[in-house]
Amino acid sequence: MEKIDLLVVGPHFLTMQGEGVGYLPDSALAVDRGRIVAIGPAAQLTGLFQAERTIQARNKVVLPGFIDAHMHTGMGLLRGLAQDTSFWMMYGLGPFADVLNANPDAVNAGSRLVILEALRNGTTTFGDLGHNMPVVCQFIEKAGVRGRVAVMIREALPRIYAPGELYEFDPAFGQRLLNDNIELAEKWHGQANGRITVMFGPQGADFASREMLLKVRQLALSYGTKIHMHVQQGDREIAQLMQRYGKRPIAWLDEIGYLDKNLLAVHLTEATEEEAALVARRGASMVLCSGSIGIIDGLVPPARAFQQAGGMVGLGSDQAPGNNCHNIFNEMKLTALFNKIRYADPEVMPAWKVLRMATIEGARALGLENEIGSLEEGKRADFILVDLLRPTMQPVFTEPMRNIVPNLVYSARGDEVSLVAVDGRVIYEEGRFLTIDEPEIMAEAQRLANPIGQAAAGRFWEVNGSNAMFMWEGKL
Ligand SMILES: [Zn+2]
Repeated sequence: MEKIDLLVVGPHFLTMQGEGVGYLPDSALAVDRGRIVAIGPAAQLTGLFQAERTIQARNKVVLPGFIDAHMHTGMGLLRGLAQDTSFWMMYGLGPFADVLNANPDAVNAGSRLVILEALRNGTTTFGDLGHNMPVVCQFIEKAGVRGRVAVMIREALPRIYAPGELYEFDPAFGQRLLNDNIELAEKWHGQANGRITVMFGPQGADFASREMLLKVRQLALSYGTKIHMHVQQGDREIAQLMQRYGKRPIAWLDEIGYLDKNLLAVHLTEATEEEAALVARRGASMVLCSGSIGIIDGLVPPARAFQQAGGMVGLGSDQAPGNNCHNIFNEMKLTALFNKIRYADPEVMPAWKVLRMATIEGARALGLENEIGSLEEGKRADFILVDLLRPTMQPVFTEPMRNIVPNLVYSARGDEVSLVAVDGRVIYEEGRFLTIDEPEIMAEAQRLANPIGQAAAGRFWEVNGSNAMFMWEGKL
């Protein structure tokens, strides 16, 4: 018998291989040195391998860890703030973000809180875009999760702009952030046994000049990585581009050669279906953040048109002050629901499709499909177990029809996840985090959050924020 590190034996596997969910009954997953060495019938594999540890996944379903393709974990301490307001970025988020960003310890504490939260809900890959990324990488390494990280690069000076006011660019400020992204790539790309990879993260076409965007593109190509960028994410972005270039963002990005397989286009909030289809046809991928865009903008981005044009769409939870949670179960459910409602058609975005977006299609969008996204021989062993004995997952039908996938998408909330493993290493099991200190992270987050509200209040009165004022008047 071949000696291996780990064998997972169970009645239900969703491998995400092939065109659907790749269901396998009564199977086993064999893992050695972080990779899947075999997946197949339990009776056969238990005879072939002698494992250091065998996990009996009785009453569980085994599936790939979730991929959260777009996050700003550093905003974790602003959860529940900046709600229900128009001009969210400037008038809702602006005053809080200014205070938060002046305190790197608070940014880092929020990031740890978010990673803990998402890991608890089965997220194994974190597509994080922010400013304190070396510290985030250290925590990703410690936690044992997978990171696909970038520095958010902008030349627009960070201050609160009135609607329609053209952003003020400072090329030296942009260059410093670009240098941070280069340093991050130099230090962390391929580190932590390959668990951490680096992308380049211009904030958006409205936040940087043509010269800067093209410089970023050259760098991404030279590092053999992709660009992670918000695209046509609001009327604000369209207004900036129309003023600067007389074109909508997608038309302008196409003109400068930005729309291709190297681009991960986040949101497409205000893209028409035709514009979304163009981005897809050019070979770019998309991240759909249903919860965040629903709450911030009241819109459903054209992910379906993107998919129909042949594009790959992953899911993202975005940030705590917009979406309020980092939970891919929530994103799957909202994605299915919002699209059914948008098109008044229950056949749009079925459960199996959004589960693919949370796993294999998210991996393709991030360019990591050779490593993760499905349970397949040769890939990294990133997987989760979900407890089928929870009320939300009961009863289980297997013959002649199955209900596990609809229950995962429409009924589960995340706390049904009973085990999380990355690179074959168990990092969360039955309520316990094995690599990070949950009470310490929670206490630190609360301690550093306390001064933020008071400090933001002084700035808040400078702006005119409709519903957001309710929060300050004590009505919320
Ligand atoms: Zn974002």
